[in-house]
Amino acid sequence: MSEIKNYKEALQHPIFDTIAKASANLELDSYVIGGFVRDHILQRKTAKDIDIVAVGSGIALAKEVSKLLPGNPKVQVFKTYGTAMLKADDIEVEFVGARKESYSEDSRNPIVENGSLEDDQNRRDFTINTLALHLSPENFGEILDPFNGLEDLKSKIIRTPLDPDITYSDDPLRMMRAIRFATQLDFKIEPTSLKAITKNKDRIKIITKERIVDELHKIILSNKPSTGFILLEQTGLLDYILPELIALKGIDEVEGQRHKDNFYHTLEVVDNIAENTDNLWLRWAALLHDIGKAPTKKFSRKVGWTFHGHEFVGSKMVFKLFKRLKMPLNEKMKFVQKMVLMSSRPIVIATEVTDSAVRRLVFDAGEYIEELMTLCEADITTKNPKRFKKYHNNFKIVRQKMIEVEERDHVRNFQPPVTGEEIMKTFNIKPSREIGIIKEAIKEAILEGEIPNEHEAAYEYMVKKGEELGLITESNENSK
Ligand code: ATP
Repeated sequence: MSEIKNYKEALQHPIFDTIAKASANLELDSYVIGGFVRDHILQRKTAKDIDIVAVGSGIALAKEVSKLLPGNPKVQVFKTYGTAMLKADDIEVEFVGARKESYSEDSRNPIVENGSLEDDQNRRDFTINTLALHLSPENFGEILDPFNGLEDLKSKIIRTPLDPDITYSDDPLRMMRAIRFATQLDFKIEPTSLKAITKNKDRIKIITKERIVDELHKIILSNKPSTGFILLEQTGLLDYILPELIALKGIDEVEGQRHKDNFYHTLEVVDNIAENTDNLWLRWAALLHDIGKAPTKKFSRKVGWTFHGHEFVGSKMVFKLFKRLKMPLNEKMKFVQKMVLMSSRPIVIATEVTDSAVRRLVFDAGEYIEELMTLCEADITTKNPKRFKKYHNNFKIVRQKMIEVEERDHVRNFQPPVTGEEIMKTFNIKPSREIGIIKEAIKEAILEGEIPNEHEAAYEYMVKKGEELGLITESNENSK
């Protein structure tokens, strides 16, 4: 028999001693299982939530643990799931009684009955998530690994403990989880599992949008999101989840002219941006920045392939996509729309960087100019080293110019230097169309660089504009 491995060192947090004592008091066995054990062995930063399985009542164990802890923290009981949760210092501990599960065709929620630890390990999604550490005082830290999860951790493999076809069909969310873990951990999904996902892809329909999006977020927040999107595409899941990306696949050729494959280009952009930002919504913007290219694609003999207006069309598609996936239709979505809409602006001006173009860019992007520049830099995916250097250099020039222009003109968080009140007072007029016209003219003059963004210059400009519109200042009237 092979030697039993012990992982006592994973259990240094005092909560584990308390759980061991509580288990002994109730004369039941308990184990820490799943992500905590997996991440400890992988030497990943372990999550702040710990899953405990009790062979007996998880709820009773949680209550006993609370009794032993200073301050007796509140135990939150979820009767429907037979689970309980408590917070101790900085961690969240979830307790569940060991269980056996069986599934029906139309739901991912199983019928549950009490079971042994082994039954409980059987119901887990992947071998690397079945690892359990004993918490009883005699066996404290011993690992229970019936499915060779340790071996799979070492070989970086995602494998289901039981038949993958049944595992994925029972709970199709596991297909997303397999791909998400493969992406986060840089693991391979073993071939029969991958086949089973492809076979069961249609069953993703029974999963709520919220759960799918949670997994998508985690894929997008990984170091190399393309791993996940390539798997989603290969297995056919992406057709259901983000058909807008599938529409970007492929290269057309007419009269020897080809365009790039915008699906793989997009994935490169997402990987690039992942190196420079952890902002989830900026990463989403990178993923969606070209979705307008599929519906706007045209070929003309004179100019070849074009995607006119794809930024505008794309930004409209963002709304529909967010709505379909039940994502928030709030300022996060507006941010993504704005990034998609403006995604070509810095590129257009980079070839000829004029002050006024930069001023307009900073004005329109407002507080998100940094994010926009990060997106555009990630968008450079040329494999030609000369061009790569040139494009990056162009953006450096734009960034430098942005600093100069901003120092001088402060258009980033533009506040009109002359207020509507002042215009009304100067010309002794009531609220009217003319005020809007004058304000817009002042803004345009500043952005064009005709006048500096200062009160005195703007005031003079206002007087001139007002007179052109036939308005009379009080001082002019007095001098008549
Ligand atoms: P992370 O915190 O990164 O999501 P985790 O493994 O802790 O990783 P949880 O969703 O907290 O993920 O799940 C805890 C444990 O419960 C998992 O390790 C796994 O053993 C089990 N589990 C979670 N979801 C499922 C599922 N859909 N099917 C089977 N087992 C699951």
